[in-house]
Amino acid sequence: MSTLFDGFAGLLLFGALAALANFIGGLLLTTSSARRLDQRFLKYLIALGAGFMLAAIFIEILPETISMWTAHGTGDIAAEAVVGAMTLLLGGYLLIQLFEHTIAPHFHFGAETHPESVLRSSAIYAAIGGLTIHTFFDGVSIAAAFLVNFKVGLLVFIAILLHKMPEGFTVASIILASGRSTRKALLATLAIGAATLAGVVAVVLLKERVSSAVAYALPFSAGVTLYVAASDLIPEVNQKEERNPMVSIVVFAGVALFYFLHRLIEG
Ligand SMILES: [Zn+2]
Ligand SMILES: [Zn+2]
Repeated sequence: MSTLFDGFAGLLLFGALAALANFIGGLLLTTSSARRLDQRFLKYLIALGAGFMLAAIFIEILPETISMWTAHGTGDIAAEAVVGAMTLLLGGYLLIQLFEHTIAPHFHFGAETHPESVLRSSAIYAAIGGLTIHTFFDGVSIAAAFLVNFKVGLLVFIAILLHKMPEGFTVASIILASGRSTRKALLATLAIGAATLAGVVAVVLLKERVSSAVAYALPFSAGVTLYVAASDLIPEVNQKEERNPMVSIVVFAGVALFYFLHRLIEG
């Protein structure tokens, strides 16, 4: 089974599933008559995803990255190589700070509750544009992890997948809050899904030219994932937690779920 998924078709399948979750998140927002129920569900999914993503970064992606970057030496040589990898991680983190928050005047995960902030078209384009760059690197994360090996790929795929529905919901709610149509809201979820697929394809194409592409893509996209987990999702959890302490507890459940699946998959 693993040889099937090592191929390009397998990578595309996982990318497409992640993209589909973006669309489903949008559908939940735009078609539901019980939107409140969906919001409650998504709130827990955001918390679960945040915990799972943090664990995947520190327990899966970073150890794999360090192993790749220290293959040619020990001691000071290894330490210097790790600085390179950590610089890429920091770069990925700062890239999303730049596009989701420095350039975009208003962006946060979850339901858009400040319609006045997204009435200007420029605010919407900046928010969706920033999110598109982030979702591109969701795809890069998935592809780079599968190119390390199938088990790492599967765990990172689950980590990314868990925040994809809330992400689609977020995009659709920004578009609707700005007074645009349901159709436009769903098109936007398709666009961020397409960016995820583009990220998968980009890694595969790059790997054909640069043999060490995965060694660069893995820490950089992990920096993006770290931003999403720690600086997009956790603040949303903390805001919700003021009314419902359970939400914060689910973050720890996300970490526990990661350890459980890690044991199950890697044995
Ligand atoms: Zn808002
Ligand atoms: Zn994402």
